[in-house]
Amino acid sequence: MAEPKHPSEIAREALKRLAASHLAPTPANYQACYNEIAQLPNVAPFPEQPLRQIALALTAKNEIQEKKLAKLDAAIGRRSWHGVQDALLAYIAAGHDNNSAAPSTAVSVAQVLPPDFSDRLARFVECVQPALGEEDDRVLELLSPLVGALRQPPVDVGQVQKLFASFSHRVLFAAEEQVEIKESLLKLLHLIIQNIGELSLDDSWLKGQVDGLLAVVAPPLTLRHLDEMERRLRDVMHKQGEAKRRSVEAQEEMRQMLAAFIERLASMNESSATFQGRIEDSAREIEQVKRIEDLAPLLKDVIAATRSMAEETAASREQLQSLQEKVLATEAELVQLHLELDSASALARHDPLTDALNRKGLDEALAREIASVRRKETPLSVCLLDIDNFKKLNDRLGHAAGDSALVHLTNVARRSMRPTDTLARYGGEEFVILMPDTTMDQGIEAMVRLQRELTKAFFLSGKEKVLITFSAGVAQLAQDESGADAIRRADRAMYLAKRAGKNRVMGG
Ligand code: GH3
Ligand code: MG
Ligand code: MG
Repeated sequence: MAEPKHPSEIAREALKRLAASHLAPTPANYQACYNEIAQLPNVAPFPEQPLRQIALALTAKNEIQEKKLAKLDAAIGRRSWHGVQDALLAYIAAGHDNNSAAPSTAVSVAQVLPPDFSDRLARFVECVQPALGEEDDRVLELLSPLVGALRQPPVDVGQVQKLFASFSHRVLFAAEEQVEIKESLLKLLHLIIQNIGELSLDDSWLKGQVDGLLAVVAPPLTLRHLDEMERRLRDVMHKQGEAKRRSVEAQEEMRQMLAAFIERLASMNESSATFQGRIEDSAREIEQVKRIEDLAPLLKDVIAATRSMAEETAASREQLQSLQEKVLATEAELVQLHLELDSASALARHDPLTDALNRKGLDEALAREIASVRRKETPLSVCLLDIDNFKKLNDRLGHAAGDSALVHLTNVARRSMRPTDTLARYGGEEFVILMPDTTMDQGIEAMVRLQRELTKAFFLSGKEKVLITFSAGVAQLAQDESGADAIRRADRAMYLAKRAGKNRVMGG
């Protein structure tokens, strides 16, 4: 075997070969010639430094990637191209595995939820639960592990994601079920109220209340609707209870009077039978009388019997008359009771003409709204509107047309108001509108919108189209201000609107 050549000798020979082979004098070509002469394998140079820089720039998203990066480091140290290639491919694959949501016990920064966020999420999930009802056990079964996972930091996103997916799937079913239950309950309620209405169709007060109730139970089912419904039902129940008690009392009186009447009739019969007996006896004795002197005592008897009969009859007549008077009085009381029931809707919370709230209803609604906006710290605006030139309308078209115009205005107002707003008839042709969550500017805007609606939906009196306009004042409830004071401010603003030429809205 030949002696290995000295590197300087190899270098010289390599230069000669490079020149003889007409190759370009590049470092790579020189290296190839050198290796050939030195009988070394011709491998490309290993760029250790750049590779280390690349390895440093790579970050591990999970434990596997971390291991692969360590392998890459070792391969670079070994200057192994194969090792580098294997480590890099494995590193990339580990990144893909993580994306496919394979369960991973690795806890790295990117995978953990911030504790306050996961806590809020847990509270949200817990708050959702009561709204879903108790019908579906599976909601609870899925909820506990989810909340548990969210409350145990560090919270693993992958695990929570899976639990959340199953939970939200179940919630969807439960929520749909709740909607159906609500709809069925409403239908049932509608049916019951309709039934009450059919049972008492002859009572106009009850019928009015039942119609009101039917209007209130129409969807959407809001808390305000339910509250209104409850108050109306209580009114109906209270009035019905009262009417029942009083008519039972009146019936009892009638019954007692009837009993006395019958007793009286019986005793009248009895005394007239006695009388008849006495007269018959006297008549028989009179027939047998021979002497005129014997007749006198018998006649005396007859006269006495007749007198006592006459007295008895008069007493009976008087008694019967007073009984009859009592019966009439009780009957009149029953009629009065019905009249009272008819007018009782005025005592309730609604104005019978427009079905807007009356003053009593407004007072209650105002107290409720004020309590609510103070609790929520949101604005409440109060509007007072007064129809322009209403007296003229009455004079020209008649009072009945005036009434219909009031109904028309309330209908248009109801359409243009938000469901949370409250409409009340404050006086003859004055209305108050309560607008929660509304600033004064927004309240003015809402009233201008109602003015526009009224120009579109004009009032028809016979064939005549009548344009109803109004002037309004809007006040936003100030801190510590009473409802009555806010209405007073709205009233002053309304007055200014009238003074400024009517058909306008002003802030107070
Ligand atoms: P202004 O533009 O200044 O408000 O004038 P107006 O005519 O509307 O106001 P005024 O207060 O002078 O008259 C109100 C009229 O409203 C008087 C009354 O006869 C009438 N009115 C009040 N209540 C009713 C009601 O229930 N039905 C009818 N048809 N008219 C009513
Ligand atoms: Mg007025
Ligand atoms: Mg007016």
